[in-house]
Amino acid sequence: MEQADVVIIGGAVVGASTAWHLACALGEKARVVVLEKDFSYARSATALSVTSIRQQFSCAVNIRASLCGLAFIRAARERFGADFGFHEHGYLFLASAAGRSALAANLAIQHAEGADIVWHEPAELAARFPWLNTEGLAAGSWGRSGEGWFDGYGLMQAMRREARAAGVTWREAKAAGIDGQVVRLADGGAIRAGRIVIAAGTGSTSLAASAGIVLPVHTRKRMVFTFRCAEAIARMPLLIDPTGVYARPEGDGYLCGLAPAEHEDPDVGDEDGPAWEPDWSWFEERVWPVLAARVPAFEAIRTGRAWACHYDLNLFDHNALIGPWPAAPHILLATGFSGHGMQQAPAAGRVIAEHLAGRPPSVDLADLSPARLLDGRRVQERNVW
Ligand SMILES: Cc1cc2nc3c(=O)[nH]c(=O)nc-3n(C[C@H](O)[C@H](O)[C@H](O)COP(=O)(O)OP(=O)(O)OC[C@H]3O[C@@H](n4cnc5c(N)ncnc54)[C@H](O)[C@@H]3O)c2cc1C
Repeated sequence: MEQADVVIIGGAVVGASTAWHLACALGEKARVVVLEKDFSYARSATALSVTSIRQQFSCAVNIRASLCGLAFIRAARERFGADFGFHEHGYLFLASAAGRSALAANLAIQHAEGADIVWHEPAELAARFPWLNTEGLAAGSWGRSGEGWFDGYGLMQAMRREARAAGVTWREAKAAGIDGQVVRLADGGAIRAGRIVIAAGTGSTSLAASAGIVLPVHTRKRMVFTFRCAEAIARMPLLIDPTGVYARPEGDGYLCGLAPAEHEDPDVGDEDGPAWEPDWSWFEERVWPVLAARVPAFEAIRTGRAWACHYDLNLFDHNALIGPWPAAPHILLATGFSGHGMQQAPAAGRVIAEHLAGRPPSVDLADLSPARLLDGRRVQERNVW
């Protein structure tokens, strides 16, 4: 049977980051195989993501992970010879009276971790963002630096390219299951692995189940809509309305969306059909009316394209699971990113690679250890939308 020191299942941004960091840590001393079922990446969250980075979380560990991602993006030109188009316009979280104290509490956590986030009273919002309708707002918080959006797909491809150049094997193959140390392939093959990393996004739950690991990671549909507007808004940040509707610039237009509330957000499967189709009535009825009221310039728009995509939502506490599974420590999890895996991939890959190389972690992600599922210790992220 084929042998490998490490098999990474899933070759998108989290798998690529793990492979790249592992190649840096171990060089060609280790045989590392990445299994990716679809080299087109057409349905991976990585290819369909809004791919933004923020420090405006409610959990310190997410802020630390994001700051690590920020440093990685900033160092990208030197490392990979490209800057991945980082638009450092910030996030602008808006709060109504009901959300003001939570916004303030989150800000205190963000400041304690060193994030550059600024508090704005409504009058200050109106002065800094004259295109914004501040009616019904009680406060806002804006990322003055370190937040924005970037070419996450390009970053994934760069890590993949460099990992391959350093000797990592990237194979187009679907993992069908895990039996002890053996990864079974859908084509009938098998690989015996010293360690196995499950970084398969929405495919992770069934793979883990085949190894007897029950994950509360569910597949949820999200939709992204694009539009153009005659009026250009200079340096618009990624705006998050108190309703959860978000919008940001994209190319010469804008993109936007809204995650459904839990009761209207069922699990979806991978089959073709409605789960992969955008529903323009969602935009028309739920997204655009909010945006047009919040940004009057968006009353006159021309709609563009839209897409549906899936991500891995950890219903336990809306946070990633990163690290070894206690009862089977040869299996490491890097999944359940709950909508923030683009910015957390550098930190996740780095910490997993350090663990595999027998080194202490250089970023403290211990709160995201999968052991918390067994201990019942939730690290609840409130800033998920
Ligand atoms: C609409 C939307 C907006 C988002 N916005 C942001 C954002 O602004 N910022 C942010 O940080 N994150 C964002 N995310 C989340 C982010 O895109 C994901 O967390 C991240 O892409 C997860 O990467 P991944 O590598 O874990 O998973 P994926 O990108 O889903 O990759 C998993 C890979 O595993 C492969 N695979 C699955 N099963 C198997 C198998 N059995 N065998 C072999 N290969 C397999 C798949 O083909 C796939 O390529 C967003 C996601 C969506 C959907």
